[in-house]
Amino acid sequence: MTLRLHSSLGNAAREFVPLAAGEARIYVCGVTPYDVTHLGHAFSYVHFDALRRYLVWKGLRVRYVQNVTDIDDDMIMVSKREGGRPIADIRDENDAIFRADLDRLNVLRPTAYPFATDYIDAIVGTTRALLESGRAYAVDGDVFFEAGRFPGYGRLNGATIEELAKRENPESKREEKKRGPLDFLLWQRSEPDEPSWPSPWGAGRPGWSIECTAMSRGRLGDQIDIHGGGRDLIFPHHENEIAQAESVTGKAPFCGYWMHNGMLRLDGVKMSKSLGNLVLARELMERHPPDQLRLYLLGTHYRRDADYREGAIAALDGRFARLREACGRAETDADAGAPARDAFEAAMDDDLDAPRALEALDAAAARVLAGGGGADALREALGALGFAFAGARGPATGDFTP
Ligand SMILES: [Zn+2]
Repeated sequence: MTLRLHSSLGNAAREFVPLAAGEARIYVCGVTPYDVTHLGHAFSYVHFDALRRYLVWKGLRVRYVQNVTDIDDDMIMVSKREGGRPIADIRDENDAIFRADLDRLNVLRPTAYPFATDYIDAIVGTTRALLESGRAYAVDGDVFFEAGRFPGYGRLNGATIEELAKRENPESKREEKKRGPLDFLLWQRSEPDEPSWPSPWGAGRPGWSIECTAMSRGRLGDQIDIHGGGRDLIFPHHENEIAQAESVTGKAPFCGYWMHNGMLRLDGVKMSKSLGNLVLARELMERHPPDQLRLYLLGTHYRRDADYREGAIAALDGRFARLREACGRAETDADAGAPARDAFEAAMDDDLDAPRALEALDAAAARVLAGGGGADALREALGALGFAFAGARGPATGDFTP
């Protein structure tokens, strides 16, 4: 059966054809470890974990890279607030908690897990190359990418550059120095009390989007198959990544499939620190088995917004118990599992429709529990979705390299 994936570039689903046959190169934007991580992060990383496992189940070799944005305005803000505490300390403390949470959720550790601060040389080199290409300019210690010089800037967002310029832009720093409103920082001058690295333009630090370009090229090469992240990263972060990567390598497309997950809401409101409505995966896993939290998270299609309500996970007690019990049964008739296996694959091939796949597996579990057989196929499918109780491989069993 043919796997079809939706790409935000072109806003359509199409057959997944990797650059190299039998291999998938995936880059997913990671966290900025300046604070706690919440259920929205778990929603995103569990779905990308299911994608990764499903590609392996389909017979592909997967390289999955996820970065850590350990130098940016938020990291510096926390460092200052804590009396000049080194950002590496802040990163290590929060990242350890984040990784422990994902380990409990049975999310496979990335093949590579780069820190932006380990890529400063590559970032400086990329910035220099972009200046030489004529698509970037330096102003008094800052270097900007000139968005208007990249043909097709806006394509990922399905918008013209004029339309994008009207949107609220988190990259609006140094407005007075920019040639155009969508120009964004590749390199920025550091204030005296901020971390800095030497560069041809003076002591400074990287812009935001250039970090991902340096890390994805460094770990996966000039072109990748799948780029993942939250939908809130499409503008400007991922639009910028395309502009940078294609300008510096001359190869297009930088990425074949742009996969963006929806946002997690709490009682209909977007979950965010500033609104103070954070629900932590860690707290939920104190009350429920981690696999049951995974069942809850996979119950919403990755591209949709999930709306968490108190009691939503407890409401899955019966469903979870049935799946687990059926998984524990011995196989009595392996042939009986074929329809469930086909239904599972058809749903997942349809842009990773995990909710529909799980419905098929509910029916399969009912059949197993009624003595109709098919337990092996059920275990295999639930394992491909990452459920530990079904024998899915554990978080540390990937080809993780720090
Ligand atoms: Zn990124």
